[in-house]
Amino acid sequence: MKTLKSDALYNEAIKYIPCGVNSPVRAFKSVGGIPLFINRGDGSKIYDVDGNEFIEYIGSWGPHLFGHNPSFIKEALIQVIENGTSFGAPTELEIKMAKLISELVPSVEMVRMVNSGTEATMSAVRAARGYTGKEKFIKFEGCYHGHADYFLIKAGSGALTLGIPTSPGVTKGNAADTLLADYNDIDSVKSLISKNKNEIAAVIIEPVAGNMGVVKAADAFIKELRQICDEEKIVLIFDEVMTGFRVAKGGAQEILGITPDLTTFGKIIGGGLPVGAFGGKKEIMEMIAPSGPIYQAGTLSGNPLAMAAGYAALNHIKNHPEVYNLLEEKSLYLEKGIKENFKSLKKNYALNRVGSMSTLFFTEGKVNSFKDAVKSDTKLYGKYFHEMLIRGIYLAPAQFEAAFVSTAHSKDDLDKTIKANFEALSILDKK
Ligand SMILES: *Cc1c(COP(=O)(O)O)cnc(C)c1O
Repeated sequence: MKTLKSDALYNEAIKYIPCGVNSPVRAFKSVGGIPLFINRGDGSKIYDVDGNEFIEYIGSWGPHLFGHNPSFIKEALIQVIENGTSFGAPTELEIKMAKLISELVPSVEMVRMVNSGTEATMSAVRAARGYTGKEKFIKFEGCYHGHADYFLIKAGSGALTLGIPTSPGVTKGNAADTLLADYNDIDSVKSLISKNKNEIAAVIIEPVAGNMGVVKAADAFIKELRQICDEEKIVLIFDEVMTGFRVAKGGAQEILGITPDLTTFGKIIGGGLPVGAFGGKKEIMEMIAPSGPIYQAGTLSGNPLAMAAGYAALNHIKNHPEVYNLLEEKSLYLEKGIKENFKSLKKNYALNRVGSMSTLFFTEGKVNSFKDAVKSDTKLYGKYFHEMLIRGIYLAPAQFEAAFVSTAHSKDDLDKTIKANFEALSILDKK
């Protein structure tokens, strides 16, 4: 695989941009080597500056449910760009977007648009604190909720991969209000609540975790979590930045059958543009400024370009509910192929999948929590990543991430991936 142009761009990039990337997971730090510079995406494929073609499973880390550059999103963008990119005043498209979100996700009675997942989670926690008048909140080890200070406590994926569970620059004061529970372990939640009686404003959770690799919340666990939050007057926040419109039309809350008080969105909701949103119970959302005292704002929030792309994506979902059956079919096909490879190679690695998001953990035995996930052999993952890459399959350059199947992945793409997986796993044995 030729990487001359990528190598040159990397050497230039590191002079001006930390590690040459604008978000840590893009660097190849945990798998070794240097990142490829991408030129173009089309459907299930991306093309780097050296002309290499890859079938890819990152989808810009989640947004590209329909693959790269689908025509209906491109056309929506071209249409609105004629009229200008932002006015800092309300537009009709914002109402259409809000209505559509609350139609697809019924727990969202009111919603506010922001510009990233981080802004959404940050604002949701503030809303919960303002609403309850309490200050502490519970998060789960291995869950990632963006890079706001008080979330960077055992925060999964990027932070996990780089070995900075708590980042310098996060104050002790900030960290002190973040209480850490174990995913899928209700007793760990109960114990925190009894030690911090009447002090906890919110519990925030990825209802299907994607940022420690894919781990689904157990039915009994999430049900009991909902109950406890009701009893203790704690706002339950589902961080569906990754799972929203990914695992089902109505997100993870639809498949789990549990209604949160607030939900955060990002990724798919922006149709590939920088968008986030938080919403939920009217009673809480009406406390957001200026209808209420909880401050929250954004110069470019709800801008026409972002709304056009996001609306096109969600409207496509609304008009094509069969999308999720199609994604399930493709993802199951891939899972079966990989599991057959395991069988013939006598491997017993954990392969977790919920709909079109999955993770192959390089550990044997079940992965139901962060503690299980970190048993994975990350060095082996690094080797696997590179063996897949030279075979034209671009996976996340880190173990604790999800692989995303899009509607654009063809049977041929999946067969090539299964074949590459077989070859890569066979070679790892010999190395
Ligand atoms: C990606 C992600 C975020 C952060 O979103 P950004 O747009 O990167 O700020 C928050 N929560 C979850 C669950 C995510 O997957």
